[in-house]
Amino acid sequence: MRSRSSNLEFPGTRAKWSIDPLSGIFKKLRGALVFFIIFLSVPCQAPAQAQPDPYSVVFSQKITAFDYQGLAYPVQKIIPAAMPGIQEKVFPLTPGRSLAILTNLGKNRGGDLERIASVVKACYRHVENSTGMELSKDVLLYLIELDKIPFSYEFEAKYSAVSNWGEVRLVLLKKDSPLWGNQGSRELSEFLFDTLPHELGHDVLAKIEPLQHDIDGQPSFHTRWFIEGVCELLAKSFSRREFPPAWERFMELRNIGATFRNPLVRRNIFNWSQENQNTMGLESDLYGASWLLAMSWSEKMPLVRFLQVLDASKTKVDGSRLMALLKRETGLNSDGLLESAVRKELAFLRKSEPIQQPHLQAAIPQKVDIAL
Ligand SMILES: [Zn+2]
Repeated sequence: MRSRSSNLEFPGTRAKWSIDPLSGIFKKLRGALVFFIIFLSVPCQAPAQAQPDPYSVVFSQKITAFDYQGLAYPVQKIIPAAMPGIQEKVFPLTPGRSLAILTNLGKNRGGDLERIASVVKACYRHVENSTGMELSKDVLLYLIELDKIPFSYEFEAKYSAVSNWGEVRLVLLKKDSPLWGNQGSRELSEFLFDTLPHELGHDVLAKIEPLQHDIDGQPSFHTRWFIEGVCELLAKSFSRREFPPAWERFMELRNIGATFRNPLVRRNIFNWSQENQNTMGLESDLYGASWLLAMSWSEKMPLVRFLQVLDASKTKVDGSRLMALLKRETGLNSDGLLESAVRKELAFLRKSEPIQQPHLQAAIPQKVDIAL
């Protein structure tokens, strides 16, 4: 998900699902409550003023949840600037890049912040090693602990327009709950092991000048299956290596094992566009299918090399050019690609898929010890 401004309302056909407000990643709801969710995530520039406000970029997010009777849960306002005990801690990532954490976690939680920084650092390394491209921007993370995570909430924060944030994200934590391990915070593990590597994938792909990306309100270039597939490939290979229990959960959320059983997935995947009327269930399955496709073609030609091919293209790369380049480099046309992805999905179903993809393994010098 890359939309900077989204406003989604989901019909009730797939009532067991909700959407992760930060990543757009679908997740199953626990318990019997039924939600429909609208979300907004809008970093935007405030209008010009006579006295320029140094903190002029607004990051806001609104989640409205409904119960099974269609009644909205009351909205809780979360404004970090008004919270007691908010502190900022900055960690260097690789040279020139940094992670800033704005948090109300107590001063005795420095070890947790260090640990988060070490995962973010590993994530940067993973994305850079897997793509052969450099990430040039920083991460700003709002890490807010609350007595209870509200179903409906409105979050708003401002930051300086002159900053170098590539990602601005919010993670809510439940007070006194463990952060790490199998019983740890799902919100935190989703951010660290799924959302962040996925979104950093978008950041590197945006640097490949010839590659055309869908833009809200504009006709589709039909490259979305490829772009989301690469981002999913980066995210899932990171979680698979660093925190397998979370990876298994993400696989289940993506419906891996059944995505291509849905004829709508097979029919729509190569024309999947940013603007669509898909149900949230179909949308989630399309993310899963795009990942399986990316796994399939990247086994024929490593991701690093194919991104170099795209970068070297003398003409703009839309869906048809992309397919022509893939055919030239891997020998797979769209039918062959689909067939190979379906086989890959069956292998997951039979649990015969090896734990790591060999070429990604080769691209990564060593496992980072995160010790979850
Ligand atoms: Zn995405």
